[in-house]
Amino acid sequence: MKEYCSIPSLHIERGEGCWLWDTVGNRYLDGNASIWTNALGHNDPDLNRVLIDQVGKVSHTTYLGLSHPAGAELGRRLVELSPGNLTRALFSDNGSNAIEIALKLSFQYWQLVEKPEKRLVVGMEGGYHGDTFGAMSAGNSESFHGRFRAWQFESRSFPRPNCSEINGRITAQEVDRSLEALESILSQESKRAAAVVIEPSIQGPAGMMLQPPGFLEELARLCRRFDVHLILDEVFVGCGRTGDLFVCQAESIEPDFLCLAKGLSAGYLPIAATLTSETIYEAFLGDFDSGKGFYHGHTFTGNPLAARVALESLEKIQGLIESGRLKRTIHYFGNAFERAISGLKNVSGARQRGLSAVIDLIPGNGVKPWKVNDRVGLEVCLAARERGLLLRPLMDSILVVPPLVIENEEIDFLFANLKEAINTVMKKKSI
Ligand code: PMP
Repeated sequence: MKEYCSIPSLHIERGEGCWLWDTVGNRYLDGNASIWTNALGHNDPDLNRVLIDQVGKVSHTTYLGLSHPAGAELGRRLVELSPGNLTRALFSDNGSNAIEIALKLSFQYWQLVEKPEKRLVVGMEGGYHGDTFGAMSAGNSESFHGRFRAWQFESRSFPRPNCSEINGRITAQEVDRSLEALESILSQESKRAAAVVIEPSIQGPAGMMLQPPGFLEELARLCRRFDVHLILDEVFVGCGRTGDLFVCQAESIEPDFLCLAKGLSAGYLPIAATLTSETIYEAFLGDFDSGKGFYHGHTFTGNPLAARVALESLEKIQGLIESGRLKRTIHYFGNAFERAISGLKNVSGARQRGLSAVIDLIPGNGVKPWKVNDRVGLEVCLAARERGLLLRPLMDSILVVPPLVIENEEIDFLFANLKEAINTVMKKKSI
């Protein structure tokens, strides 16, 4: 808070397309897509229209014992668009809750089918699934969750593969090591393992750590072999970020649970969904006195405003994918990213997949590593802010995640100013 309060605050007053304006009239490119949610730009006329239409009907009614057209339609559309085995959707209001619901459904399912000893969750190194206790337990982020370990439930983790990609060129190592470690955990724990939970394709919060094509298929095969649920956290990668609507659908994987949030309403309103299969659903059916029901509900579950916006945004994102526009944008973004990093010193790593990229910064040759308090990533983002660009650091890495509708000239603006910001900070630190 000491550092946070020392940075001049920025009050955003309005937005239009990929741009945001502060209260004193400065304009910024939203290179962080408002924490990875904004798909279609700010103030989108179509999303505004359906939202206003829904406000004119009803803004919120409970989903407890009632339903409404927006929620029912959204559930049906998600089932149509996702892999064939996913036939049921539970709504909530953020990514952490979508994960909590998947975990609790998995645990309760194993109880209902008389395998209550299946309680163990297995996650991947560096996994991040949110900040609530279940999501923390399933995750693996020391900085976010380490100090709360004493209150977390038991979980195991396996190493991630080492994969890099820029502009579609992929190099991957340690894939077998990762899968063999998972196999070893699952075979040791086959009686106790309930679920494997991972962020497929890209571990965003870990710093855009990638998995190579085919990795997910092998992982899904292991889950099936050891009778363990597969929970896919597509909170970041879902809804167009990688170029497809969902990673699992693009890779023909049928998970037991698919968790969506962030881009589901294109960054307009909080809504999340946990999709699951008929097999899971049916285990919860029974007379009232069987006690099989799933006792979990959030007050704003399936909020009609958010559901209407999500329906419209899914159609618009589908349009971007089907017209080839998203693919063209990603192609341009990849090329521009490659050009931007090519002349940069102080880069130890750079990865890009879909509309997400990261630059890992290091001191130049012969210079001692930066100290934690040097806050180089933060300084670069503040220098970018002065140049009209909003970005988010992760320690000494700079994450770039623009809205899906970013135009080519805006991509040029983004990388030109990011490069300048990096060079300015590096010069200041004389490295
Ligand atoms: N999973 C992933 C992959 C995420 O990136 C995030 C949020 N950054 C979450 C889960 C948690 O989502 P929320 O912040 O909406 O709770």
